[in-house]
Amino acid sequence: MTVEILQPHGFCAGVENALRKASRLLDALQASPADGRPQTVYCLHEIVHNELVISKLRARGMVFVDSLSQVPEFSTVMFSAHGVGPTVRAEAENRNLRVVDATCPFVERVHRAARDFAERGLRVVVIGHAGHAEVRGLVGEAKNPVVVDRFPHPALPAIPAGDKSAPLGVVSQTTMNADDVDRIVQGIRRCYQVESTAEVCRATKERQDAVKNFGGDALLVLGSANSSNTLRLCEVARCRTFRAGTLEEVARLDFSGVERLGVTSGASTPEDFFAAAVELLRKRKE
Ligand code: SF4
Repeated sequence: MTVEILQPHGFCAGVENALRKASRLLDALQASPADGRPQTVYCLHEIVHNELVISKLRARGMVFVDSLSQVPEFSTVMFSAHGVGPTVRAEAENRNLRVVDATCPFVERVHRAARDFAERGLRVVVIGHAGHAEVRGLVGEAKNPVVVDRFPHPALPAIPAGDKSAPLGVVSQTTMNADDVDRIVQGIRRCYQVESTAEVCRATKERQDAVKNFGGDALLVLGSANSSNTLRLCEVARCRTFRAGTLEEVARLDFSGVERLGVTSGASTPEDFFAAAVELLRKRKE
């Protein structure tokens, strides 16, 4: 079996930025402890969706929480790369928390677009997966936004077809399947008056394009099961697909019959894990 590495793969700029901030913060607060004890660094939600990254940060003392109510007043809290809505920012202020914001600049741009649409009176439509951390933050920017992951979708406003009098402002989660986003926007445009900034981020698009262009007979995507961009890479592949989040999972995979295996990784998958996985694969005898 030959093993080919797809480019680009692995950390995007947004993840690099978030992890640099986390590392600096841990170094600073633990090297110069207040009243003789290192301060705890809290992070609201997983800073990025990767189990290896999270366990390393946990080992360095970072505490991950699902709600700001779990963070003691006057503590330091990080916001993850996926961003948060205005209600969470206000709550942090009310609880006197020191915030270190690791929101990716591309996610911030989508928040600005949603806010702008809402302020201008457009009904905001978010193309994304309801429940994903990025979408939970985005919906906080508008009143009664609609979240859709396909078209047609029952949650879209019940406006009769052809009546384009009620404008919609459409934005998208940055890690969706780029082709799905295009299809959904086209579908909405056929029925509604639409202003749209909906698109995935560049890192997502480039990784998906590399996967779509791969001509081998199987693809291994390295990344965690809760990583949206990892799962989308599996989805857009045009060949048999495997996913693994740890070396143990890679070792358990059965590549029988595979002659040409491509390997790529999600935008939150660390490069040291990627290199170790490729080395393991190249030593195998299939
Ligand atoms: S995948 Fe895109 S939006 Fe998400 S952190 Fe990376 S660059 Fe930012």
